[in-house]
Amino acid sequence: MNTFKSACILCDSNCGIELEIEGREITKIKPDKSHLASQGYFCQKAGRLNYYQNHNQRLTHPLKRMPDGSFEKIDWDTAAKEIAAKLIKIRDEQGGHSFAYFGGGGQGNHLQGMNGGSLRKTMGSRYVYSSLAQEKTGDFWIAGKIFGRQDSHITADGLEHADLAIFWGCNPWMAHGFPHARNVLNDLSKSDKRKMVVIDPKRTKSAEMADLHIAVRPGRDAFLLSALLALLIKIDGIDTNFIRKWTTGWDNVAERFLKINIESYCDYADVPLSELHILAEWIKATDKITFRHDLGLEQSLHSTLNCYLEKLLIIATGSFGREGTNTFHSTMVPVIGQSSPEADGSYKFETKVTKMIPIAGIYPPNILAKEIDSDHPERVRALWVNSSNPVTSVADTKALKEAIGNLELLVTVDVAMTETARLSHYVLPAASQFEKWEASSFNFGFPSNYFHLRKPVFEPTGEALSESEIYERILLAMGETIPILSEEKYPMLERKVRLALYPLYMLTRRFASANKEAVIAAGHEKGNHESLGDALFAKILEGPVKFSEHKYEDNFSSKWLKHEDGKFHLEIELLLNQLDHLQIELADNNELPDSMILMAGERRAYTANVIYRNPDWRRSDSLGALQIHSEDARTHGLENGGRAICKSAYGQIEVSVEYDDTCRRGMCSLPNGYGLLYQKEGDDTEKIYGPYLNQLTGADHCDEFAKTPFHKNIEVKLEPL
Ligand code: SF4
Repeated sequence: MNTFKSACILCDSNCGIELEIEGREITKIKPDKSHLASQGYFCQKAGRLNYYQNHNQRLTHPLKRMPDGSFEKIDWDTAAKEIAAKLIKIRDEQGGHSFAYFGGGGQGNHLQGMNGGSLRKTMGSRYVYSSLAQEKTGDFWIAGKIFGRQDSHITADGLEHADLAIFWGCNPWMAHGFPHARNVLNDLSKSDKRKMVVIDPKRTKSAEMADLHIAVRPGRDAFLLSALLALLIKIDGIDTNFIRKWTTGWDNVAERFLKINIESYCDYADVPLSELHILAEWIKATDKITFRHDLGLEQSLHSTLNCYLEKLLIIATGSFGREGTNTFHSTMVPVIGQSSPEADGSYKFETKVTKMIPIAGIYPPNILAKEIDSDHPERVRALWVNSSNPVTSVADTKALKEAIGNLELLVTVDVAMTETARLSHYVLPAASQFEKWEASSFNFGFPSNYFHLRKPVFEPTGEALSESEIYERILLAMGETIPILSEEKYPMLERKVRLALYPLYMLTRRFASANKEAVIAAGHEKGNHESLGDALFAKILEGPVKFSEHKYEDNFSSKWLKHEDGKFHLEIELLLNQLDHLQIELADNNELPDSMILMAGERRAYTANVIYRNPDWRRSDSLGALQIHSEDARTHGLENGGRAICKSAYGQIEVSVEYDDTCRRGMCSLPNGYGLLYQKEGDDTEKIYGPYLNQLTGADHCDEFAKTPFHKNIEVKLEPL
């Protein structure tokens, strides 16, 4: 038995873990108490990581799909040559825009996904479709307008010191999303002085711990958010000093809120006015407030507007840039960027079919089927999927599957034989996250921020390779090269490690040069190294490291506030018009739908992203039950533990029913991470385990601006089976 240190790969906390290994099995997983960032924190999900590392769908050889749909093993050289020839033909005959790239990072693979950039460059394509654009691009776009950069990202790291924590549309007990989430919730819950508010249609575990739970009606968050802002203005609950010093446009913004009928908005959101008053008074009386939102806001109706209203709340209450409030954070590996228009307002890389503009350098998966399945001469003809499974994770599975049939080339690089891999022309086996050098790019810490480069624990399975080696083979076959760290400078690193770490080395140097003070404050010095970046990189090679230590006043510097006047620009006319439109929506639509509202993709005790394929990893909720209030269930004739058909405008699935009175009336919930094809030991054939959510979702049921799908607001009919 051997023991190794590594990190959990299931959420952006990436807690440090200690693995006990026997042969190729992970036999025990413990939290790593010595880990600089997580300090011994972890949750029950990490203990099951052997189910990710070892299962019967691991890919071991490059595969080529035959005309009859079966796959044949091929060697790496043949795979690289054939794929390269097809890529070159498509690029040279159709142009770079006909090539699109999906994924490349996410929880699947962070560090090695960066190598995909070399392939995109060779193809002359900027079309990166990312799961982030199923959630957060509305938020990034707002950041661009308010802060001047779409990647000036706000973190909720201040929660640890907040006297009032406001969680809107998130359940951190299950979904985490900030360091030591459960410890922070426990501390808030136990404290007599500090307060915690959860706004969620469901009485989640986090909501149960809160001082105030507001069970907003699904899809009505924008009404409640705007009523809260209007009430704060009315009771002088905003921070006028902060607004005067740091913002522009507030007067015009505030004027729009004065038109709001607070009472009728509350009524429409089905929230007692008294609860809104309590929340507003707490906000007014508290100096240190941190807001945290997640998919409950982003994937609900009015997605981009919701995120705008939340930003206005943060800024108008001055809950920013101090201990215990929201802040910006540094980023070692920039996951997103800035998409700026040309001088005439057009976008150079607008998509050809749907005319979607990039936001933060990425495109929404919601438009992908239309970009492929079109007779437009400049449609997408080749798709490269890296560590993603769009066939299960993108809205309207059926449409995407049909579109994929029209691709001239689909290549999937993955650890497992996913639903997307099965439709691919070529499937290239990637080493798992415990079989290669890997790191997390989701470093959201402030003022201290940490980075953890992890060494492999196992040799790759079969003929699997790390992504950097895969991309090198493809690029060499295309007549290109891929940069690599110099052997002279790093003689102690194997060639494949120098290949894998080159992008990180370049980013480290760039980061250190742009954040010299913060890197020095984190304890690094140039010493005998060529540069401060080289010194920091040397520390990164040793293990988890604090890479930046910022000061609170940095939040008001040009590092993140990019408008020339150094201020927050609050007036976004497009969204203020949407705010005005809420009044029309309320007047036009005061009837409740007679169908139930499904909130799809709930995080539960045993849900994670879809990299856990073997359903046996779950210790509970093996069927991914549809949870529904018992009275609603009885109204629909559904029995507790029985089966039901859940039908939307786009499709239907079979579900098992669980009575759960933490759901508010009129809504039901299904979890994320299920619906994968798997053949368990002892099963005769493969079957789908749990709800396949994207058979119920439609790509056009989305935010009109950012195209974020409204997964938290799907009208469904339920019938007993
Ligand atoms: S799932 Fe998230 S919080 Fe839980 S152990 Fe893994 S990284 Fe940590």
